[in-house]
Amino acid sequence: MIVDDRQALREGLETDALGFLTDLLGRKAATTLVDFAANDAQLRYRSFTPVGSMLIGLRFRGGAGSDKKLEQRQGRQLKIIEGRIEAVPRSNMMFTPPLVPHRTEHNYGFWHVNDEQELGINISLGEEKRVTVLIEGFPEKGRHDRFAWYCNQCVTPLFVRACETHRVGLGGFYQVQQEAVREFNAGEALRTCGNCGDVHPLAYSAFDWADTPEQRAARAVW
Ligand SMILES: [Zn+2]
Repeated sequence: MIVDDRQALREGLETDALGFLTDLLGRKAATTLVDFAANDAQLRYRSFTPVGSMLIGLRFRGGAGSDKKLEQRQGRQLKIIEGRIEAVPRSNMMFTPPLVPHRTEHNYGFWHVNDEQELGINISLGEEKRVTVLIEGFPEKGRHDRFAWYCNQCVTPLFVRACETHRVGLGGFYQVQQEAVREFNAGEALRTCGNCGDVHPLAYSAFDWADTPEQRAARAVW
């Protein structure tokens, strides 16, 4: 009887479809489950962790033991769209297509230009606690992240450093970021707009704990 049932199943499927479905039976399944309340999840995703063809990062805010100074620094999302700096209010879900320069006020003081797309989802965890789930395309071979600066007045490009993140890894990504910030801040030459003469404020990285006193002051302003 079982043989007959299989025969009936096969008759209902094209050969290609049957082959496809049969192949799937032999594949290893992998499911990633994340409990936001678990300390190990918070540690594991505090930077970015590869999950399939994505990078996932978790940014927790609020609740007991949260950094009040960090709380006050919830800046707007900024994007450069069609040659203009646009302020996008924080919302439940934020999508950034590839190659759109973007930054978050007070969080990182450079324009991030990513070959990969990015998605941010804000989720309330109750009692004023919340988490932002950051989802980015896994940096494939040959794809780049860039740390860039534009004139705040006329959006003239000032300076950029790029890294091939697939090759250098996240450690290299953060290192190039820090070096780009240092280089941009080294004097006024790179920060002075060739078009309108405006001097760009000091840059700062995503790591507020690494700020010099001058960078900390700049972070509070822009
Ligand atoms: Zn300018």
